[in-house]
Amino acid sequence: VWGRVKNVCKQNGLLILSVLAVVIGCLLGFFLRGKQLSEQEVKYFQFPGELLMRMLKMLILPLVVSSLMSGLAALDAKCSSRLGIMTISYYLWTTFVAVVVGIVMVYMIHPGGAAQKEASEEGKKPMTSSADALLDLIRNMFPANLVQATFQQVSKNVDDDNGTDVQNFSLDLTPPPDVIMKTSPGTSEGMNVLGIVIFSATMGIMLGRMGPNGSALVNFCQSVNEAVLKIVAIVIWYFPFGIVFLVAGKILEMDDPSAMGKKLGFYAITVVMGLVLHGLFILPAMYFFITKKSPIVYIRGILQALLISLATSSSSATLPITFKCLLENNHIDRRIIRFVLPVGATINMDGTALYEAVAAIFIAQVNNYELDFGQIITISITATAASIGAAGIPQAGLVTMVIVLTSVGLPTDDITLIIAVDWALDRFRTMVNVMGDALATGIMAHICRKDFVKEGDFYPLLHPMI
Ligand code: ASP
Repeated sequence: VWGRVKNVCKQNGLLILSVLAVVIGCLLGFFLRGKQLSEQEVKYFQFPGELLMRMLKMLILPLVVSSLMSGLAALDAKCSSRLGIMTISYYLWTTFVAVVVGIVMVYMIHPGGAAQKEASEEGKKPMTSSADALLDLIRNMFPANLVQATFQQVSKNVDDDNGTDVQNFSLDLTPPPDVIMKTSPGTSEGMNVLGIVIFSATMGIMLGRMGPNGSALVNFCQSVNEAVLKIVAIVIWYFPFGIVFLVAGKILEMDDPSAMGKKLGFYAITVVMGLVLHGLFILPAMYFFITKKSPIVYIRGILQALLISLATSSSSATLPITFKCLLENNHIDRRIIRFVLPVGATINMDGTALYEAVAAIFIAQVNNYELDFGQIITISITATAASIGAAGIPQAGLVTMVIVLTSVGLPTDDITLIIAVDWALDRFRTMVNVMGDALATGIMAHICRKDFVKEGDFYPLLHPMI
């Protein structure tokens, strides 16, 4: 028995350490809350956790660019368009299912109390604002300045070409001041990953079409990609230590849980139940029906990534770990991972979509607004769009929720109602986001298995001997 225990510990050492780190972080956080630390002391305490976030963020850019460029360059046009269409359709479908789950749950549980009256006319905001928000989303797909896109999350309101203000066409996505305060670590430091994904994917496809002329750059990207994964293998050993401080630091910062109202408690339960239903039952069931393989075994392979997403609240920051888990534990073809995963981390956020739908309807219920069927459809469409537009960073969903609220005329200031619990819900929805991307990669690998017969086929330009 002892031998087996030793074996399990050896194989899953890092995972066990990470779970322990979450537990120790929680205990330490609650213990230190009683000690009334000053703001400065809390900041110092959070430093090791901050380092963890920085290390992960550092790897996102080289990983996304190199994997998409080298990945797509080596796909032949037929394979890449098939994989592209299948992936995007699957992502949209699962996001929509998540929104429906959220809507059903929030109507079943009714966390905000019974609806009594129609949405008041003065509460309605002009519908154009959500159209403008959508324009911002599309604007972000085409960053005018690529260098800027690597450190700027939203290109809203500024026409980068000539520096003129295009405020007229743009919804101000700025949430109420306290939302900004609470979301600041991620949002201000974020990058326009969507724009970078679009650019790298296009470059990759073009490099592939250039034949031997493009092989130098493709080779370069492939080397970068492998080097990044080697760096991940080293920094991964810092994770358990960083997680303790990340989790404990967040607990030190959070508002007093006893101040949380009953309605807010029910709202949190509704979101968590929806996430559990979608993440632990619906998505794995889809995986099982399509691949006929065990989702439990598959999920076991990505546990490390799920823990990191729980600790960091960021699906982009988790990307390098998800990549590694899928490659090494689940043995997914790296050609598929290179495309499906970065695209998923950018546009596929089932957890965020579900939460946005629940939160918007909860705010309507708290305000006693009765939403008609058309408004519910609007919420489902805008929640899907808002989740696509949300960056994979902490509490990005809270910011893009403005799109959903304005689309049906709900007061955006009421976002402040749900702030107290958002930091916790963010962790669970990020886990579902990561789970959705990882399961999708497995499904795509299964569906496209005939297109990708053997690894060597993929790099004809890089292996002159083949
Ligand atoms: N934190 C989430 C993620 O990184 C986004 C959000 O819902 O706020 O996937």
